[in-house]
Amino acid sequence: MALADARNILVSRLKKYKLCKDCLDRHGSRQKPEEPCYICRGLMSEKEVIIKKIVSTTKGYQFDTFLLGATLPTQIYEREDAMRARLKMRGMESAKSQLTREIGMAFARISGKKVDYLLPDLAINLVIDKENNVEVSTQSRPLTFMGRYKKKTKGFPQKQERCTKCEGKGCNDCGHSGLSGYESVEGVIARSIMTATKGETPKFSWLGSEDRSSLVLGKGRPFYAKVLDPRKRKLRSIRASSDSVVATLSPTKSLPTVPVRFIVKTRILIRCEKNLDGKDLKKIRSLAGAEIKFNSRARTATKKIYAIAARRVDDHNLILTILADGGLMIKQFVGGEEYMKPNVSELLGTKCDCTTFDILDVQVQNSLAS
Ligand SMILES: [Zn+2]
Ligand SMILES: [Zn+2]
Repeated sequence: MALADARNILVSRLKKYKLCKDCLDRHGSRQKPEEPCYICRGLMSEKEVIIKKIVSTTKGYQFDTFLLGATLPTQIYEREDAMRARLKMRGMESAKSQLTREIGMAFARISGKKVDYLLPDLAINLVIDKENNVEVSTQSRPLTFMGRYKKKTKGFPQKQERCTKCEGKGCNDCGHSGLSGYESVEGVIARSIMTATKGETPKFSWLGSEDRSSLVLGKGRPFYAKVLDPRKRKLRSIRASSDSVVATLSPTKSLPTVPVRFIVKTRILIRCEKNLDGKDLKKIRSLAGAEIKFNSRARTATKKIYAIAARRVDDHNLILTILADGGLMIKQFVGGEEYMKPNVSELLGTKCDCTTFDILDVQVQNSLAS
């Protein structure tokens, strides 16, 4: 009884303030609403208009869950805080919380979508200025994919340069791809991802790399991709293809958090300065099981060669087929640069160069997906 009395006294003090119905409700008062409202200056009566704006802004998005946030003008907080301090009112819901709660519930009812505080498909944000102008912005949760690509023709680079204007952030000049064009494996796949998801700035992590002159055969090279602000998110798979590249991608829950280990089968064309004989091939075959040491980021790293086959083409040229840990730098392994030990040049006692190499297959060792 004493508590209710105390509360009634507090509420009766609100009479000094002109408040709208919503702002009165929030403070537990049933006094007559008056305009303009001391706290919100009419913002609360804009709810219907704001909901309509949200409905039209989110129209292009596929989503099941959302979270609504808002930035209100500081003046609203200041007036509300000042009033409450004067009336010694504490622990009541804020104008912002009431606004987002009521609009969020209304939008959920209209759209049939659910509120999700942890991992919403779509984040909706209201930015309200001190004249109560409302801007609605949206950002959908990124989608991640795992895929493999094959490269059937030589002369096609794996990676694409960034857009020079935005340096990869995405702008009107690059159609929000963040790329300088689509003339690469990355470009072809990025374009297909953007078309399928209506998203922006796809980012890739590749399991290994190849040269412009390399083919990628077998099941293809695995990669992960992430696309920002996708409009379409219910996808079974994406296919990308051009004259040179074929790729298939499937959605994944997330990107791998630990480095993915992989083994690569590579065919290497080598040209040596001296005449090659049978002894040289024998020396090369002795590399099976060897650990190749090299310097990486001021440390010594090793890559294992699991199997190696060597075939002489003519006096100066040979073909190596090796099965080795992913990340072994093929050109350095042949030429002997960057302190690679053992390497082909040193082993044969002559200068050898990698003419070209092709990726025959890539096996993933510890992946979350196959
Ligand atoms: Zn108000
Ligand atoms: Zn750009």
